[in-house]
Amino acid sequence: MKSLRALLFFGVLAIAASAQAQGAVTKYVRYSHQGRVAYGILVNEQIRELDGSPITGAAPTGKTVALTDVELLAPVEPGKVIAIGYNYKSHADEHARDPGPHPGVFIKLPTSIVGPDADIVFPQGAGNVHFEGELVIVIGKTAHGVAKEDAADYIFGITAGNDISERDWQASDLQWFRAKASDTFGPTGPVLATGLDYNDLLLQTRLNGEVKQKQRTRDLIFDIHDIVSFVSQFVTLEPGDIIFTGTPGATSAMQPGDVVEIELEGVGILRNRVSSSPTSE
Ligand code: MG
Repeated sequence: MKSLRALLFFGVLAIAASAQAQGAVTKYVRYSHQGRVAYGILVNEQIRELDGSPITGAAPTGKTVALTDVELLAPVEPGKVIAIGYNYKSHADEHARDPGPHPGVFIKLPTSIVGPDADIVFPQGAGNVHFEGELVIVIGKTAHGVAKEDAADYIFGITAGNDISERDWQASDLQWFRAKASDTFGPTGPVLATGLDYNDLLLQTRLNGEVKQKQRTRDLIFDIHDIVSFVSQFVTLEPGDIIFTGTPGATSAMQPGDVVEIELEGVGILRNRVSSSPTSE
């Protein structure tokens, strides 16, 4: 009897392990509904509300709401927004840049992050504003001095991001402060997904429906684990911090009225409109 129970117990463990190996994907969203902001789990176009952030631990409240009835927000509220440049050969070659011996890190700001239903707004004087479709890492546990082989333990999940870049300011300014970290320069979403094989996902960017970027994340020069390990040698990463991992191929300038879509396999489509109203209004 004891051995039968043990057999059943290990059978259940094996089934759970196999489900994990097959990548049972969970999609988390953050949304506003009737003036209230909440996190939830997206299942078949319905959102199951959670009582807090899934990153720090949350339970279902029992309430559900239709996806069509909410405004989706960025699926994470990061304390730090870090980004990697020139991390696909196809993009480094476009800019005649040598990727170098380690990930090329720069920082954006939490105030640059907006959700999938927000407009991208050009700051005053911006003219040469490019899209950059990227996979975005979401940190799950406090990480300091993490070895590459342990990096997976510190990653909660991934989302898609648009590392909006004002190319003229990027070339002329002391740092990439306004070029990369202006308000609305970090659309992120639509979901925060766990259980995906983030080392090999198709990433595509479309501008007004035309495919502009298309590459798999297996082509990253420094992969997701290299990046988390490297960054954590210098700054402590905290739950909810995010890291943009770099954009592939060529980018181009967007105009007010354009619609830009970043599609990441398993995560979905991050769609934003470029606002036609200047910020000074
Ligand atoms: Mg970028």
